[in-house]
Amino acid sequence: MLYNMSMDCIFCKIASGEIPTEFLYQDKELVVFRDIHPAAPTHLLIVPRRHTPTLATLPDDETPLIGRMALVANRLAREHGMAARGYRVIINSGKNGGQVVPHLHMHLLGGGPLRADPV
Ligand code: 5GP
Ligand code: ZN
Repeated sequence: MLYNMSMDCIFCKIASGEIPTEFLYQDKELVVFRDIHPAAPTHLLIVPRRHTPTLATLPDDETPLIGRMALVANRLAREHGMAARGYRVIINSGKNGGQVVPHLHMHLLGGGPLRADPV
């Protein structure tokens, strides 16, 4: 399998094209698509093609991936007119962190004022 796809992982299926989804950005490593249940006027998900369950299981030597995800988040924020007023990126990790989809992803939220309280 091309990207170490995990069977039955919804984000692996989206990233591989098995579930057709509009990508707002894609490169060889990452895809970006809209969250199906937006929590803000603009709510995008930045998702590595390769399956990693969660931030906590990301190998130490792969942490630069998070920086590249942040770079893409900034780029998308600019493209969606959120750079001036601000936006939020979130990585939920594990059960207590509120992670529902067990495939590493970064939320990009903006387009309007967000709650100050992160929980
Ligand atoms: P988590 O709580 O795991 O950090 O966030 C997972 C996010 O993925 C949720 O905000 C949820 O709405 C979104 N999501 C779950 N399934 C799908 C899907 O099939 N398509 C899209 N576009 N988003 C999804
Ligand atoms: Zn996956």
